[in-house]
Amino acid sequence: MINPTLSVQHLSVEYRARRGTVKAVRDVTFDLRRGESLALIGESGSGKTTLGLALVRLHVRAARIAQGKILYQGDGPPYDVLTLNHEQLRQFRWRECAMVFQGAQNSFNPVLRIQAQIYDTARDHGLNSNDETRQNALELLRVVQLDPQRVFRSYPHQLSGGMRQRVLIALGLLLQPKVLILDEPTTALDILTQRAIIDVLRRLRGEYQFSLILISHDLSLAAELADRVATMYAGRIVELGDVEDIFYHPRHPYTLGLLQSVPTITGEFENLSSIKGSPPDLIDLPSGCKFHPRCPFATEVCKQVDPPLVAVERDHQVACHHWEQVKTVVESDGGRVAADGSRTSSTLRPPSAVAA
Ligand code: SF4
Repeated sequence: MINPTLSVQHLSVEYRARRGTVKAVRDVTFDLRRGESLALIGESGSGKTTLGLALVRLHVRAARIAQGKILYQGDGPPYDVLTLNHEQLRQFRWRECAMVFQGAQNSFNPVLRIQAQIYDTARDHGLNSNDETRQNALELLRVVQLDPQRVFRSYPHQLSGGMRQRVLIALGLLLQPKVLILDEPTTALDILTQRAIIDVLRRLRGEYQFSLILISHDLSLAAELADRVATMYAGRIVELGDVEDIFYHPRHPYTLGLLQSVPTITGEFENLSSIKGSPPDLIDLPSGCKFHPRCPFATEVCKQVDPPLVAVERDHQVACHHWEQVKTVVESDGGRVAADGSRTSSTLRPPSAVAA
């Protein structure tokens, strides 16, 4: 079996706060396979962005990696990103693994043309030939469906939000990294621009064959672009599987709740439901399964024992004591949650209908 590009093992990230320690990422383990697209989904505050930042060690100073390994394997032997020194880390970022931050389209330097910002980035990461940089950049701008010559010479304010986002994605790929992390790449963009970004990402993946980590609360984006999906809750991965399995055969009540809360254009109004309650306080987490105060499937054991993430079907892992009940509910509904994240049939039955 080919080694994964990234192998994250038992990673935990904490923030120091006045009230105590914020456990933002807890014991996260997953592989990012070569050329695959993995979506991290979940509510705000579930740890997705902290995890993404930790992968390139760009977490804020108040955060610390409490435990774990991030094994990266590019063309050479694997190494642990957490052991890299400052210079090695600079080489790793952008050349091996690039990240486009949430809302970063607003962080271009407003008084520099795009070309100057591209040259700066390239030089800072060891690509000193302006000719080569220019050639690569123009090609990438073309692939992201922009007018390369015009955009290259433009100032940021001369571009729309969607155009700036596309420039950033092109910039992220300038040094041909093996891994691209995109944090909410379509948030704050209008629906047509979102569509264009999705098309661009599809095309880029086809042409450049990089692995993609897509951080998003937008289930339809995950459904469109991901090969596999990881659902995060309270800093942990609670379900991980093929995109088809997650959207058609969810086995975790939280994933099911996320899918049920997506509005549809054609669905009945009463079919829409939301997950009751709020995400937990990450300083003072509930006992047992952290989802139990909000979970309609919860029983006594859930309040006491935090279930491990285990394989329940081929290539499908779930952290839930009662995943089989969730399976019964999903399948008894005729089971369909469409690939765009919307449901196509009636409301899922309440868990009491299948509880023993
Ligand atoms: Fe719900 Fe229990 Fe499963 Fe947690 S372990 S998700 S509380 S059923």
